[in-house]
Amino acid sequence: MEVDVVAPMERTRQPSQPTRTCRTCVGCGQRGEGEAMVRLVLVPGPQEGATPASVVVDAKGGAFGRGAHVHPSKACFEKACRQGLSRAFKCAVKADAEALLLEVARAFARRLEGLLAGGVRGGHLVIGTDAVTQASQAGRLQLVLLAADATAAAERSAVKRATAEGKTLVYGDKRTLANALGKRHEAEERAGVGVCAVTDAALSASIRRAWICAVGLVPTRTDREDSDVARAEDE
Ligand SMILES: [Zn+2]
Repeated sequence: MEVDVVAPMERTRQPSQPTRTCRTCVGCGQRGEGEAMVRLVLVPGPQEGATPASVVVDAKGGAFGRGAHVHPSKACFEKACRQGLSRAFKCAVKADAEALLLEVARAFARRLEGLLAGGVRGGHLVIGTDAVTQASQAGRLQLVLLAADATAAAERSAVKRATAEGKTLVYGDKRTLANALGKRHEAEERAGVGVCAVTDAALSASIRRAWICAVGLVPTRTDREDSDVARAEDE
């Protein structure tokens, strides 16, 4: 189990690491950690007051403007679009939950790619099964990103252990993972990247949050599970 350790005092707080704040979800009305929610920023209508306002997704957090927070869940976005946003901003807000969720997925996919590329540059990411195994043996493994088509890598003991501990996220296929990591060389692109691991705790938390919004919100991989559920209900 991990225990939060108080970090040594930093002279300047980095904008990419906001302090933990308590926010109210404008969908369900429950309070929670703001960093675990999606921030939406108000865009006033062309004739303020006369035309409805809209919102844009602030994937990085801290974008200028009046913001509202929503849990990364379809139900909370639907409630927020129905009336939560208008109530929170005290003006008419026109927003479609489905379109907004797609925007969330796109914005956080870009954010996730940025975090991965930054992790590579900063040396907080190791690539390939051997490197992941070494990081696991050294106790440095915080999070594993596994390509959906990396069947051999998924069977490696270090990856299996990480999966059992809830530390594995499935991300795209080998080629998309390679691209996200900035490995665009021809040879690497052909082979792709099957697995990589994050060795930094803060980066791992940011990647996990971005992943939930980028991959977890839009039902793609769960289609099969849904049909399984439907079949079970039919019986
Ligand atoms: Zn909510």
